[in-house]
Amino acid sequence: MTQFPDGMVWLVGAGPGDPELLTRKAEWLICAASVVFFDALVGPGVLDLIPAGVRTVSVGKRSGRHSKDQASIDRLIVAAALAGERVVRLKGGDPAIFGRATEELDACRAAGVSVAICPGVTAASAAAASLGCSLTLRGMARKLVFATAHVRAGAAPELDWQALADPDATLAIYMGKAAAAEVSRQLQAHGLAEDTPVAIVENASLPGEQSLSTRLDLLPLAAKACSGSGPALLLIGTALQPVPSRAQQCSHLALSTISRHTA
Ligand code: SAH
Repeated sequence: MTQFPDGMVWLVGAGPGDPELLTRKAEWLICAASVVFFDALVGPGVLDLIPAGVRTVSVGKRSGRHSKDQASIDRLIVAAALAGERVVRLKGGDPAIFGRATEELDACRAAGVSVAICPGVTAASAAAASLGCSLTLRGMARKLVFATAHVRAGAAPELDWQALADPDATLAIYMGKAAAAEVSRQLQAHGLAEDTPVAIVENASLPGEQSLSTRLDLLPLAAKACSGSGPALLLIGTALQPVPSRAQQCSHLALSTISRHTA
């Protein structure tokens, strides 16, 4: 039985956006909270599930448009818990995947505040589901790597490209659209085949969902063609082989090699 006494903090995964992908536990927690601090990536349909009597505070962070820095968020949730509130810290996807969960766990523990995590469906799972493919492939894609290509403006991502350029792996690259050209170049330079299947999925599970399936050498073109401003994930690897039977509309950029799928 889930415990949510006054003065406790739950880090809750909101999933990728579709409110039906919220766990039952997450829904129970946001209804039992007295205050919910939520991120910019929490889907509007999920926010609609928060009862009117629960106070909501946006602490939204989108790349380049930080409304609150991490230390301020840590202080806010700790202060609310010490004031006796039942605090939900609602985060897009899974709180433990590129969700700054460690900072918030540490801040709570340092202040003697009881804290727990409710997992959520991560963007990579939602993106694979919207493509209708598996992230692993028996005997071929034996590893699944969660990586982020997020960088400060103007800098290049510092990743272990040699380790990532692994033909046996599926790469799920979060915050990677802006770095798509660099990702494509580095992976090829480190030996990954130019025709390795790649997909970009934007707004996975949300109404504006769209995806482009292509190959590694055409990833920069595909990233330009995927022009929306929603969150986007790159998936790279043999497991992403496009399903030939799925009806797909081809992009004008490279008719036979980039295919677009819109929800
Ligand atoms: N904790 C989140 C990830 C936060 S990092 C999770 O587990 O999903 C934010 C990045 O996640 C975005 O830049 C994007 O790369 C990815 N992302 C989050 N929601 C997404 C969605 N609905 N569709 C595609 N990518 C998404």
